[in-house]
Amino acid sequence: MECPKCPLHPEMEVKTHGRKIAINRCPDCGGIFALPDVLEKIKEEWFADWMDYGKHHKSKAFNALKNINCPACSVPMASIKDEKQKHLELERCPQCDGIFFDAGEMTDWKYETWQDTVKGLIAKFKRS
Ligand SMILES: [Zn+2]
Ligand SMILES: [Zn+2]
Repeated sequence: MECPKCPLHPEMEVKTHGRKIAINRCPDCGGIFALPDVLEKIKEEWFADWMDYGKHHKSKAFNALKNINCPACSVPMASIKDEKQKHLELERCPQCDGIFFDAGEMTDWKYETWQDTVKGLIAKFKRS
């Protein structure tokens, strides 16, 4: 699988966690491609920081680049905004629903998810 964002389309490396989770990460821009069922599993886990190079990676030039093709299906991906995190603009494939995160975006996304989890726990605690 080649990185859809980098001009030279480097081969993305596969990163796995346990047996359930596998993502593709570009060694150059740090972009991450993952399928929705994997993202669901990532939400349930408390790790995932290791997957993301973080904001300080050299991804700035690529953040402006839109209209990329899905690395799995080669069809144009659509820009989507997270309902809860308007600053996050991700690319989603209309065919396989795979999501492309720029470096740092997955950490943002996961952190918000983590906050929601904590908020949910607190709410539950208050109710009982
Ligand atoms: Zn790349
Ligand atoms: Zn796709």
